[in-house]
Amino acid sequence: MSESGEPRVDAARAHRRFAGPSDLHLHSDHSDGTEPPATVMAAAHRHGLRTVALTDHDTTSGWAEAAEATASLGMTFLPGMELSARHEWRSVHVLAYLFDPDDPTLRALTERIRDSRLTRARGMADRISRDYDLHWDDIVAQTATGATVGRPHIADALVAKGLARDRGDAFAGILHPASDYYIALYAPDPVTAVSAVTRAGGVAIIAHPAGRAGLLPARLTRDMLDAGLAGYELGHRENQEPALARLRSLVAERDLIVTGSSDYHGLGKPNLPGENTTSDDMVARIVDLGSGSDPVYP
Ligand code: AMP
Ligand code: ZN
Ligand code: FE
Ligand code: FE
Repeated sequence: MSESGEPRVDAARAHRRFAGPSDLHLHSDHSDGTEPPATVMAAAHRHGLRTVALTDHDTTSGWAEAAEATASLGMTFLPGMELSARHEWRSVHVLAYLFDPDDPTLRALTERIRDSRLTRARGMADRISRDYDLHWDDIVAQTATGATVGRPHIADALVAKGLARDRGDAFAGILHPASDYYIALYAPDPVTAVSAVTRAGGVAIIAHPAGRAGLLPARLTRDMLDAGLAGYELGHRENQEPALARLRSLVAERDLIVTGSSDYHGLGKPNLPGENTTSDDMVARIVDLGSGSDPVYP
C-alpha cells in the first residue's frame, strides 16, 4: 500500500503477472467471520486462491495482518471492506476496494455505523434477556476485541447457550427482522455509501445484489451509478433468477465490473473460499480504477 508514485497502469500489469484465482469477499473476526485475518488468508490459499481481498463489515482494522499473511503465502492482497447501507427496510451491502482508509468522510461514516452496531447489539441483548438466559457478557464473549459487532455474534452467544442450533437457526428466529427482539442499525443510504467510497478513491461494487429481497428500484440504481458505482457481485450463492438475468443485461449495457466471490465467514456460514471467483480481467479493472490505496503484491 505504498505511495510509490507509479502510474496505475503499472499496477494492473503487475497484477497480470501475479494473476490467479481471485476471491474478493472474505470476512475475518475483525467483523463477523470466526477466524483471524491470517487464518482466513491461509484458508484461501489452501483453496487455491492467489488474489484475495479482506472485506470485513465497516472496518479496515484487519488489513495489516491480512497483508502480512498474503505476502508470506505468495498471494496478492486487495484492501477492502463491506460497507453497510440501507434503502427503506432493506439492507444493501457495498463492497469497497482500494479506497483511502484515512479518508475523513468514510472514516466518520464507518465510525457512526460501528457505534450504532454496538448500541443496537446491547439493545437487542436487553430485549432478548427479558425472555431468555442471555446477557450482554455472553455476546462480548463471542466477539473479538475491537471487532465490528453484529447479529452473528448474538447468534453465536445463543448457540453457546443452547438457545439456537447454529447461526442460521438464530437468524430464522430470535434475530429475524420481524422478531420483537430486532433493532435496526444506523446505515447510510446506498447513494451516500457509494459516493463516500468513490470519493475516497475506492471501487464500489454492490454485494449479493440479487438476493431474496430482489432488485433495488431502477431509480436508486441510476443514482448509485451516477455516484460512481463500478459494478456488481454477480457470482454469489445468494443471487437468484430472474433478478440476476436483469443485472447481467445492465452490466453488459453499461460495461460494468462483475465479480464473483464466496463471502467466507469461517465457521459462521457454509460458504467456502473460491466457491465463486473473479476473472483476472475484472481484477485488473478494479486495480486500474482504485486510487486510494494499493494492492499488496507478494
Ligand atoms: P447485521 O449486519 O448485524 O444485521 O447482521 C447481518 C450479517 O449476518 C450479514 O453480514 C450476514 O453475513 C450474516 N448473516 C445473515 N443471515 C445469516 C445466516 N442465516 N447465517 C449466518 N449468517 C448470516
Ligand atoms: Zn457478515
Ligand atoms: Fe453482505
Ligand atoms: Fe459479506
